[in-house]
Amino acid sequence: MSLQDHIATLEALQTQLGVVRQVPPTLLQKGSDGAERGAVRAIGEAVLSEPVQAALARARESLETDGPGAQRVNRKRRRAGTPEEYVDARAAAPARRPEDAVPLAELGAWGTAWNAAHATAALRIRGRVVRIALADVLTAYLGIGVAADGAVVVETVRVFGAREAGLGESAFGVFRAVSQQLGRGLAGGAGLAAVAGHVVAYGDLFEGPCTVCGRVVAAEGHVPCVVRRWDGAGWRAEHAGCGR
Ligand SMILES: [Zn+2]
Repeated sequence: MSLQDHIATLEALQTQLGVVRQVPPTLLQKGSDGAERGAVRAIGEAVLSEPVQAALARARESLETDGPGAQRVNRKRRRAGTPEEYVDARAAAPARRPEDAVPLAELGAWGTAWNAAHATAALRIRGRVVRIALADVLTAYLGIGVAADGAVVVETVRVFGAREAGLGESAFGVFRAVSQQLGRGLAGGAGLAAVAGHVVAYGDLFEGPCTVCGRVVAAEGHVPCVVRRWDGAGWRAEHAGCGR
């Protein structure tokens, strides 16, 4: 099983536990054999099941290997075009650099060049949706529009697991969290090239250690690094709870 599968398994278990937490304890004590008791039994069986045990074993292994104070620096810096202005836009007043702009008329040619430059990502344009697939990691759907100056801007971002259908929103919290992170930069009319670069930075979502705590999976919540922070030279992976 991949780390992604392990995380999905633990998330599913967490959802089940959430359901039972809402059941009043008195119902469980009175010996009723209703749906609530069934839910508790199902969780017991789920915890003992092979996928959950494998996921827990891997989490324990990761904890022992990394140790609580481990510090590792992610040296896999990814160059991502020209993100400075895009990153500034996330913090304050939005501004797109003219050289980042992808005119609508040149969108097809830009996509072809982008695919040629990215070996591990595939970009496809269908109408007003740009789909970026990072093999075995995630698929991002960027809803695009056109700014007053004719440049393509990203209006919405939805991220799904590589094997998900891409309807509605992802069933997995980790991909919903990545959607949220990517969505934070869109308010000012983010340029397509900058957002595509940010998406590509998630290529090591399930293996990139946090540049703050050094772990791949956070000690709390079993979630990988869903934050990618631009530090002037590359995108730094961070857990949502580890950054500033
Ligand atoms: Zn961390």
